[in-house]
Amino acid sequence: MSVKEFMNYITMVDEHVITSTTDLKGVITSVSKAFCEISGYTELELIGKNHNIVRHPDMPSELYDDLWQTIKQGKPWSGEVKNRKKDGGFYWVKVFISPNFDPLGIMTGYTAVRHDITDHKKVEQMMHTDELTQLYNRRYYNQILAGYINKNHANGCWIGYLMIDADNFKKYNDTYGHQAGDDVLREISDSLTASFNQPNDRVFRLGGEEFCVIYTEKNANELKRRADASRQHLQDKQIKHSANPPYDCVTLSMGLMELDPAVQYATDEIYKYADEALYRAKQKGRNQIEVVESAADDIELF
Ligand code: GH3
Ligand code: MG
Ligand code: MG
Repeated sequence: MSVKEFMNYITMVDEHVITSTTDLKGVITSVSKAFCEISGYTELELIGKNHNIVRHPDMPSELYDDLWQTIKQGKPWSGEVKNRKKDGGFYWVKVFISPNFDPLGIMTGYTAVRHDITDHKKVEQMMHTDELTQLYNRRYYNQILAGYINKNHANGCWIGYLMIDADNFKKYNDTYGHQAGDDVLREISDSLTASFNQPNDRVFRLGGEEFCVIYTEKNANELKRRADASRQHLQDKQIKHSANPPYDCVTLSMGLMELDPAVQYATDEIYKYADEALYRAKQKGRNQIEVVESAADDIELF
């Protein structure tokens, strides 16, 4: 490669590849033009600043803990990261970070190379989202359930698996119209999202007027308390539903399965048990929660 070709190559990389280097503390020592363009900062605004200037609040701190633990040991790290632009917007990148070493083999800092995956992430998010309520959809539920259980049980957490069904909802549509029914589904979704707002909580619309929440707690009692509080939260909104006696407002029935971290479960069985509990809640008069009663031995698989 001639010098001219090499310079041309450097220019192209600078303009099209989102790169940066930092010292060992993450203070930026150089950035490419492409980095400036996507982040909205000038080179002057970035040099000397900590890399967390582009950190987005949506990114969990565990991701950064993992990143730093890896690269501090001189190992490369890669992952998908949402970053914050200067104007408050965001972009997603697939990032590869590797440590730099001086000729004596002493680590001096890190170089990161990224490519823009924002469009890909937007499509992915659409695929995971229920259009009516903007909750997670059944596709995403199928995708994450097993992994969610494994990860949180490995951390020693109890997991609540909560099936939720709106009471006498057909009659709601018959009385107030399908459009009003859609509005109520959105109100239910807002109420559930308000009740289950912890980082580990996931709220899904599985279809129709059926929802599911998975969430974690230190013990089983707390799982039930939170589920029942979410049922009450919706009832307290007093959304008029004259065909839902004796409550006269929109209510929810719930079936809760409390997943003990000491027990291994087959994910496809869980739904069945929680659904049976939900059915009991309906039989007992609706607007209540029933907990899966089966002894752990019945459910335990290994
Ligand atoms: P139960 O208390 O036993 O659950 O009675 P239900 O009427 O809620 O249950 P059923 O399964 O008989 O009917 C569910 C109704 O939910 C049927 C349909 O009218 C309504 N529904 C399902 N999806 C939607 C939706 O997307 N929008 C609206 N507005 N209604 C829906
Ligand atoms: Mg129903
Ligand atoms: Mg139903």
